[in-house]
Amino acid sequence: MAELYDLQWQHATDCLFESPASGHPVARSFQLPKTLAELTGIGRAMEHWARYTHGMMGRVPDYLNRAMSAYAAGAPFLAAADVRFGANAVRLHEELREADLCLTHSLIPPQANRSVGPAQQADEFLAARIKAENDSGFVVRGCRMLATLPISDAIMVLPSTLLKATPDDAPYAFGFVIPTDTPGLKLICRESLDYGRSRFDHPLSSRFEEMDAVVVFDDVRVPWDNVLLYRDVERCNAAHARTGAVVGMAHQVVIKNIAKCEFVLGLAALLVDTIGAERFQHVQEKLAELWVTLETMRALKRAAEADAALDEWGVMRPAWNPLDAARNLFPKLYPRMIEILQQLGASGLVAMPTAQDLQGPLADDIRRYYQAARADAFERIPLFRLAWDAAISAFAGRQVLYERFFFGDPVRMAGSLVAAHDAEIRGYADRIRDLVRDLRDEALTPEK
Ligand SMILES: Cc1cc2nc3c(=O)[nH]c(=O)nc-3n(C[C@H](O)[C@H](O)[C@H](O)COP(=O)(O)OP(=O)(O)OC[C@H]3O[C@@H](n4cnc5c(N)ncnc54)[C@H](O)[C@@H]3O)c2cc1C
Repeated sequence: MAELYDLQWQHATDCLFESPASGHPVARSFQLPKTLAELTGIGRAMEHWARYTHGMMGRVPDYLNRAMSAYAAGAPFLAAADVRFGANAVRLHEELREADLCLTHSLIPPQANRSVGPAQQADEFLAARIKAENDSGFVVRGCRMLATLPISDAIMVLPSTLLKATPDDAPYAFGFVIPTDTPGLKLICRESLDYGRSRFDHPLSSRFEEMDAVVVFDDVRVPWDNVLLYRDVERCNAAHARTGAVVGMAHQVVIKNIAKCEFVLGLAALLVDTIGAERFQHVQEKLAELWVTLETMRALKRAAEADAALDEWGVMRPAWNPLDAARNLFPKLYPRMIEILQQLGASGLVAMPTAQDLQGPLADDIRRYYQAARADAFERIPLFRLAWDAAISAFAGRQVLYERFFFGDPVRMAGSLVAAHDAEIRGYADRIRDLVRDLRDEALTPEK
């Protein structure tokens, strides 16, 4: 994380901009772009972190910096419920930006009983819920399912979009940002995927383990100064879309996808070249598939930026449709990319000694039997260890799961996509209906 923050200063022209409050250089991912040039500048800034991590850290801080910036821009939407909430969004955004703080976030209730909502669970405080309120704020008790990158300065607790506009669901409807060390806030981390071994042995997991945690609110006090949304189900359900937070995050995501595609394509190409498999037709077909995936992500990012327009808050917002297409496509494409790495690497992915072995009693055997067509053993081994960590290790498995789910359940995302484009899709169906009726009429018209 420290390296990531330092990187911003090594690429200051791209990654920093002059703070509108202090005049100091601050992270560009906090900017509210007014022009297309500013928007594409934010995209360029985000590329630095994405490339540095090979797209393997979905939660580099710019992901939520974009969300918080959108909430600040959409402050009037929050203020319509309570003027304090709009002012809080602006102030919190400024505080995070000036200190370049890092956020995690948590949206969904725990996975106990998915057939009913948070209010119908066995325990009404299973899902994080408002327990009490007074003049200074409110108290939250319960749990939220997940927060990736728990080593962060603050946590955004935002509404999930699953709430129903009933009085039962109102106590589960809130949005706030509080320091991660707020008393009563607990983070239950999963087992670490960084096994504390060398970078050679675990090239990705030793560097890019971002960790996931379940969030427990043990009577956490949330001051009114930190609140963005409160008990307003409809506003909670609409907030991500109206403020532009979802678009800002999706912009970061497509940039991360591009870096990940470049990494996997490069890895696959070098692997194939190393073992002399490049002339087989199915190998070329698989490299072509990876390339097409990369170009698809690039095109969608470019379309989103090219078709950007000023939103209702005067912010230059990337076009949503290409980003929505990207976020619905990538959960299917990434598992396939990893499958291709497995198909190309085959047993080479598991037949790899560790750094210790290279200096152990079997070093001579290793030097001899691990050689490849275009690399000696000691060059081939780190390449295949990298491919192993991308394709079959626990880190690799978590990456695939991340890509499948982190932006939401792909099934329900597809459902909301169809609902959002209902009129457009029906327009195409009408064209086909006209065509079918023409064919029918033609067939039924008696020949002259
Ligand atoms: C690695 C990783 C990191 C994540 N990081 C974060 C984070 O930092 N912050 C955060 O807030 N969230 C995070 N998430 C959570 C992510 O938002 C959820 O995974 C996603 O919304 C799906 O919810 P779920 O995992 O609870 O699955 P569930 O909703 O429990 O779904 C389980 C299965 O049941 C099906 N299902 C459940 N309900 C329905 C329904 N109503 N209709 C149709 N099918 C249904 C699903 O399709 C799926 O097959 C992360 C997830 C992963 C895997």
